Amino acid sequence: MDLLRIAIQKSGRLSEDSLNLFKECGIKFDSGTGRLKTTSNNFPAEFLFLRDDDIPGYVEDGVADIGIVGENVHVETGRHVEVVKKLGFSKCRLSIAIPRGESYGGVQELQGKAIATSYPTILGNFLKENGITADIHEISGSVEIAPSIGLAHAVCDIVSSGSTLLANGLKEVEVIFRSEAVMIGSEKLSDAKRSILSKLLFRIQAVQTAKNNKYIVLNAPNASLPEIIGLLPGMKSPTIVPLGTEGWSAVHSVLSEEDFWDKIDALRSAGAEGILVVPIEKMIY
Ligand code: ATP
Ligand code: MG
Repeated sequence: MDLLRIAIQKSGRLSEDSLNLFKECGIKFDSGTGRLKTTSNNFPAEFLFLRDDDIPGYVEDGVADIGIVGENVHVETGRHVEVVKKLGFSKCRLSIAIPRGESYGGVQELQGKAIATSYPTILGNFLKENGITADIHEISGSVEIAPSIGLAHAVCDIVSSGSTLLANGLKEVEVIFRSEAVMIGSEKLSDAKRSILSKLLFRIQAVQTAKNNKYIVLNAPNASLPEIIGLLPGMKSPTIVPLGTEGWSAVHSVLSEEDFWDKIDALRSAGAEGILVVPIEKMIY
Protein backbone atom coordinates (compact mmCIF):
# COMPACT_ATOMS: atom_id res chain seq x y z
CA MET A 1 0.00 0.00 0.00
CA ASP A 2 1.15 3.56 -0.71
CA LEU A 3 2.33 5.63 2.22
CA LEU A 4 2.65 9.41 2.16
CA ARG A 5 6.18 10.25 3.35
CA ILE A 6 6.10 13.31 5.59
CA ALA A 7 9.30 15.11 6.65
CA ILE A 8 9.18 17.11 9.86
CA GLN A 9 11.85 18.85 11.94
CA LYS A 10 13.50 16.49 14.40
CA SER A 11 13.94 19.03 17.16
CA GLY A 12 13.53 22.77 17.05
CA ARG A 13 10.98 25.52 16.85
CA LEU A 14 8.78 23.74 14.32
CA SER A 15 8.73 20.32 15.96
CA GLU A 16 6.10 20.63 18.67
CA ASP A 17 3.49 22.41 16.54
CA SER A 18 4.13 20.03 13.62
CA LEU A 19 3.55 17.00 15.86
CA ASN A 20 0.43 18.65 17.33
CA LEU A 21 -0.99 19.30 13.89
CA PHE A 22 -0.96 15.58 13.03
CA LYS A 23 -2.26 14.70 16.48
CA GLU A 24 -5.21 17.08 16.05
CA CYS A 25 -5.87 15.43 12.70
CA GLY A 26 -6.22 12.11 14.54
CA ILE A 27 -3.05 10.66 12.97
CA LYS A 28 -1.25 8.47 15.51
CA PHE A 29 2.43 7.57 15.48
CA ASP A 30 5.30 7.07 17.87
CA SER A 31 7.57 10.11 17.94
CA GLY A 32 9.77 8.91 20.82
CA THR A 33 13.19 10.54 21.15
CA GLY A 34 15.93 9.25 18.91
CA ARG A 35 13.55 7.98 16.26
CA LEU A 36 14.38 9.03 12.70
CA LYS A 37 11.50 7.30 10.96
CA THR A 38 8.12 5.97 12.02
CA THR A 39 4.88 4.79 10.43
CA SER A 40 1.39 5.81 11.53
CA ASN A 41 -0.80 2.98 12.74
CA ASN A 42 -4.08 4.59 11.63
CA PHE A 43 -3.25 6.68 8.52
CA PRO A 44 -1.26 5.76 5.38
CA ALA A 45 1.72 7.94 6.27
CA GLU A 46 5.33 7.55 7.24
CA PHE A 47 7.25 10.26 9.13
CA LEU A 48 10.89 11.24 8.71
CA PHE A 49 12.50 13.40 11.42
CA LEU A 50 15.15 15.67 9.90
CA ARG A 51 17.06 18.96 10.18
CA ASP A 52 14.77 21.65 8.77
CA ASP A 53 17.38 22.84 6.23
CA ASP A 54 17.42 19.41 4.59
CA ILE A 55 13.65 19.10 4.16
CA PRO A 56 13.14 21.15 0.93
CA GLY A 57 15.89 19.16 -0.82
CA TYR A 58 14.43 15.82 0.22
CA VAL A 59 10.98 16.90 -1.00
CA GLU A 60 12.40 18.11 -4.33
CA ASP A 61 14.28 14.82 -4.80
CA GLY A 62 11.19 12.80 -3.91
CA VAL A 63 12.78 11.19 -0.83
CA ALA A 64 9.88 12.76 1.10
CA ASP A 65 6.48 13.57 -0.46
CA ILE A 66 5.66 16.53 1.76
CA GLY A 67 7.38 18.40 4.56
CA ILE A 68 6.92 21.20 7.06
CA VAL A 69 9.41 24.10 7.10
CA GLY A 70 9.48 27.83 7.77
CA GLU A 71 8.71 29.90 4.65
CA ASN A 72 12.10 31.52 5.22
CA VAL A 73 13.86 28.17 4.72
CA HIS A 74 11.63 27.35 1.73
CA VAL A 75 12.45 30.63 -0.04
CA GLU A 76 16.12 30.59 0.94
CA THR A 77 16.75 27.07 -0.37
CA GLY A 78 14.85 27.86 -3.60
CA ARG A 79 14.03 24.22 -4.29
CA HIS A 80 11.41 23.22 -6.85
CA VAL A 81 8.56 22.30 -4.51
CA GLU A 82 4.98 23.48 -4.16
CA VAL A 83 3.64 25.33 -1.12
CA VAL A 84 0.65 23.13 -0.37
CA LYS A 85 -0.66 24.94 2.70
CA LYS A 86 0.22 27.77 5.06
CA LEU A 87 0.06 26.47 8.61
CA GLY A 88 -0.13 29.61 10.76
CA PHE A 89 2.44 28.64 13.41
CA SER A 90 6.15 29.49 13.95
CA LYS A 91 5.51 33.05 12.86
CA CYS A 92 8.63 35.18 12.75
CA ARG A 93 10.34 37.82 10.63
CA LEU A 94 13.70 38.18 9.00
CA SER A 95 15.16 41.57 9.87
CA ILE A 96 18.27 43.66 9.50
CA ALA A 97 19.70 44.95 12.78
CA ILE A 98 22.55 47.31 13.59
CA PRO A 99 24.37 48.26 16.84
CA ARG A 100 21.95 50.07 19.12
CA GLY A 101 24.10 53.20 19.47
CA GLU A 102 24.19 53.89 15.71
CA SER A 103 21.75 56.11 13.88
CA TYR A 104 19.78 54.82 10.89
CA GLY A 105 18.24 56.96 8.19
CA GLY A 106 17.14 54.28 5.68
CA VAL A 107 18.33 51.39 3.51
CA GLN A 108 20.88 53.53 1.67
CA GLU A 109 22.96 53.45 4.86
CA LEU A 110 23.63 49.76 4.21
CA GLN A 111 25.54 50.64 1.03
CA GLY A 112 29.02 49.12 1.16
CA LYS A 113 28.50 47.63 4.62
CA ALA A 114 29.26 44.05 5.69
CA ILE A 115 26.11 42.17 6.78
CA ALA A 116 26.27 38.76 8.48
CA THR A 117 23.39 36.34 7.84
CA SER A 118 22.32 32.72 7.39
CA TYR A 119 19.93 33.91 4.66
CA PRO A 120 22.14 35.19 1.81
CA THR A 121 19.49 34.63 -0.90
CA ILE A 122 16.63 36.49 0.79
CA LEU A 123 18.98 39.26 1.93
CA GLY A 124 20.56 39.47 -1.53
CA ASN A 125 17.12 39.86 -3.13
CA PHE A 126 16.16 42.60 -0.69
CA LEU A 127 19.38 44.54 -1.30
CA LYS A 128 19.04 44.18 -5.06
CA GLU A 129 15.43 45.43 -5.01
CA ASN A 130 16.64 48.47 -3.13
CA GLY A 131 19.65 49.09 -5.36
CA ILE A 132 22.13 48.51 -2.55
CA THR A 133 25.49 46.81 -2.92
CA ALA A 134 26.66 45.30 0.36
CA ASP A 135 29.04 42.60 1.41
CA ILE A 136 27.04 39.54 2.53
CA HIS A 137 28.87 37.33 5.04
CA GLU A 138 27.21 33.95 5.20
CA ILE A 139 27.47 32.30 8.62
CA SER A 140 25.42 29.37 9.83
CA GLY A 141 24.61 30.40 13.41
CA SER A 142 25.10 32.90 16.26
CA VAL A 143 24.71 35.69 13.74
CA GLU A 144 23.91 38.28 16.43
CA ILE A 145 27.45 38.39 17.78
CA ALA A 146 28.99 39.32 14.40
CA PRO A 147 29.04 43.14 14.98
CA SER A 148 30.52 42.89 18.49
CA ILE A 149 33.40 40.69 17.28
CA GLY A 150 34.07 42.94 14.30
CA LEU A 151 32.91 40.49 11.65
CA ALA A 152 30.18 42.72 10.22
CA HIS A 153 28.49 46.13 10.63
CA ALA A 154 25.00 44.71 10.59
CA VAL A 155 23.16 41.38 10.79
CA CYS A 156 20.14 39.91 9.05
CA ASP A 157 18.45 37.29 11.20
CA ILE A 158 15.19 35.75 12.44
CA VAL A 159 13.36 37.84 15.02
CA SER A 160 10.25 36.97 16.97
CA SER A 161 10.22 39.03 20.19
CA GLY A 162 13.46 40.95 19.61
CA SER A 163 14.96 39.90 22.96
CA THR A 164 17.99 38.19 21.38
CA LEU A 165 18.83 41.35 19.44
CA LEU A 166 18.46 43.43 22.57
CA ALA A 167 20.70 41.11 24.57
CA ASN A 168 23.38 41.55 21.90
CA GLY A 169 23.16 45.34 21.82
CA LEU A 170 21.40 45.47 18.42
CA LYS A 171 18.30 47.25 17.14
CA GLU A 172 15.99 46.13 14.35
CA VAL A 173 15.95 48.61 11.45
CA GLU A 174 14.38 46.77 8.47
CA VAL A 175 11.92 43.87 8.28
CA ILE A 176 12.73 42.14 5.00
CA PHE A 177 10.60 38.96 5.13
CA ARG A 178 7.64 37.62 7.16
CA SER A 179 7.47 33.89 7.69
CA GLU A 180 5.22 31.16 9.06
CA ALA A 181 5.36 27.38 8.86
CA VAL A 182 4.28 25.98 5.48
CA MET A 183 3.61 22.52 4.14
CA ILE A 184 5.66 21.97 1.00
CA GLY A 185 5.04 19.12 -1.41
CA SER A 186 6.74 17.37 -4.27
CA GLU A 187 5.68 18.52 -7.75
CA LYS A 188 5.47 14.92 -8.93
CA LEU A 189 3.25 12.94 -6.57
CA SER A 190 1.51 9.79 -7.77
CA ASP A 191 -2.30 9.81 -7.89
CA ALA A 192 -2.41 7.48 -4.90
CA LYS A 193 -0.22 9.82 -2.84
CA ARG A 194 -2.19 12.88 -3.98
CA SER A 195 -5.34 11.27 -2.71
CA ILE A 196 -3.75 10.61 0.72
CA LEU A 197 -2.56 14.23 0.75
CA SER A 198 -6.02 15.56 0.01
CA LYS A 199 -7.41 13.50 2.91
CA LEU A 200 -4.79 15.05 5.15
CA LEU A 201 -5.55 18.57 3.87
CA PHE A 202 -9.26 18.03 4.50
CA ARG A 203 -8.49 17.22 8.15
CA ILE A 204 -6.11 20.17 8.53
CA GLN A 205 -8.79 22.47 7.11
CA ALA A 206 -11.32 21.20 9.68
CA VAL A 207 -8.86 21.76 12.53
CA GLN A 208 -7.88 25.26 11.31
CA THR A 209 -11.48 26.37 10.75
CA ALA A 210 -12.41 25.15 14.23
CA LYS A 211 -9.56 27.17 15.76
CA ASN A 212 -10.81 30.31 14.02
CA ASN A 213 -14.34 29.90 15.34
CA LYS A 214 -16.15 29.61 18.67
CA TYR A 215 -19.47 28.03 19.55
CA ILE A 216 -21.78 30.61 21.12
CA VAL A 217 -24.98 30.16 23.12
CA LEU A 218 -27.00 33.13 24.38
CA ASN A 219 -30.43 34.04 25.69
CA ALA A 220 -32.52 36.86 24.24
CA PRO A 221 -36.03 38.26 24.33
CA ASN A 222 -37.93 37.16 21.20
CA ALA A 223 -38.29 40.78 20.07
CA SER A 224 -34.46 40.98 19.68
CA LEU A 225 -34.16 37.80 17.60
CA PRO A 226 -34.17 39.37 14.10
CA GLU A 227 -31.28 41.69 14.98
CA ILE A 228 -29.34 38.91 16.76
CA ILE A 229 -29.84 36.45 13.90
CA GLY A 230 -28.50 39.15 11.56
CA LEU A 231 -25.32 39.30 13.63
CA LEU A 232 -24.82 35.51 13.79
CA PRO A 233 -24.79 33.84 10.39
CA GLY A 234 -23.64 30.49 11.85
CA MET A 235 -22.70 27.63 9.54
CA LYS A 236 -26.09 27.81 7.83
CA SER A 237 -28.26 29.82 10.23
CA PRO A 238 -28.48 29.90 14.03
CA THR A 239 -30.48 27.33 16.03
CA ILE A 240 -33.30 29.00 18.01
CA VAL A 241 -34.76 27.11 20.99
CA PRO A 242 -37.56 28.49 23.19
CA LEU A 243 -36.67 29.02 26.87
CA GLY A 244 -38.88 27.98 29.81
CA THR A 245 -39.54 31.69 30.37
CA GLU A 246 -42.30 32.96 28.07
CA GLY A 247 -41.11 35.34 25.34
CA TRP A 248 -37.41 34.30 25.51
CA SER A 249 -35.24 32.07 23.34
CA ALA A 250 -31.76 30.55 23.36
CA VAL A 251 -29.69 31.14 20.22
CA HIS A 252 -26.87 28.70 19.27
CA SER A 253 -24.39 29.66 16.59
CA VAL A 254 -20.77 29.91 15.49
CA LEU A 255 -18.74 33.08 15.79
CA SER A 256 -15.50 33.91 13.99
CA GLU A 257 -12.44 34.74 16.13
CA GLU A 258 -11.64 37.69 13.86
CA ASP A 259 -14.27 40.21 14.95
CA PHE A 260 -15.23 38.33 18.09
CA TRP A 261 -15.34 41.20 20.62
CA ASP A 262 -17.11 43.60 18.25
CA LYS A 263 -19.80 40.98 17.68
CA ILE A 264 -20.14 40.35 21.43
CA ASP A 265 -20.63 44.10 22.02
CA ALA A 266 -23.23 44.28 19.25
CA LEU A 267 -25.06 41.20 20.61
CA ARG A 268 -25.20 42.72 24.10
CA SER A 269 -26.56 45.98 22.73
CA ALA A 270 -29.18 44.01 20.83
CA GLY A 271 -30.39 42.45 24.10
CA ALA A 272 -28.40 39.20 24.40
CA GLU A 273 -27.76 37.89 27.93
CA GLY A 274 -26.13 34.87 29.53
CA ILE A 275 -23.64 34.47 26.69
CA LEU A 276 -21.57 31.25 26.72
CA VAL A 277 -18.59 30.80 24.40
CA VAL A 278 -17.10 27.34 23.89
CA PRO A 279 -14.09 26.20 21.81
CA ILE A 280 -14.79 23.98 18.82
CA GLU A 281 -12.60 20.93 18.22
CA LYS A 282 -13.37 20.18 14.57
CA MET A 283 -15.51 22.01 12.04
CA ILE A 284 -16.64 20.35 8.82
CA TYR A 285 -18.73 22.15 6.23
P1 ATP B 1 17.61 22.52 12.74
O1 ATP B 1 18.43 21.95 13.84
O2 ATP B 1 16.46 21.61 12.37
O3 ATP B 1 18.41 22.95 11.54
P2 ATP B 1 17.30 25.36 13.24
O4 ATP B 1 18.11 25.72 14.44
O5 ATP B 1 17.80 25.68 11.89
O6 ATP B 1 16.90 23.83 13.36
P3 ATP B 1 14.96 26.53 14.52
O7 ATP B 1 15.59 27.57 15.36
O8 ATP B 1 14.40 25.33 15.20
O9 ATP B 1 15.90 26.08 13.31
O10 ATP B 1 13.81 27.26 13.68
C1 ATP B 1 13.07 26.58 12.72
C2 ATP B 1 12.15 27.57 12.04
O11 ATP B 1 11.24 28.12 13.00
C3 ATP B 1 12.86 28.80 11.45
O12 ATP B 1 13.32 28.53 10.14
C4 ATP B 1 11.77 29.82 11.45
O13 ATP B 1 10.88 29.65 10.35
C5 ATP B 1 11.01 29.49 12.71
N1 ATP B 1 11.50 30.30 13.86
C6 ATP B 1 12.77 30.55 14.18
N2 ATP B 1 12.86 31.30 15.28
C7 ATP B 1 11.60 31.51 15.67
C8 ATP B 1 11.02 32.20 16.77
N3 ATP B 1 11.77 32.82 17.67
N4 ATP B 1 9.68 32.18 16.89
C9 ATP B 1 8.92 31.55 16.00
N5 ATP B 1 9.41 30.89 14.93
C10 ATP B 1 10.72 30.86 14.77
MG1 MG C 1 18.17 24.56 10.42
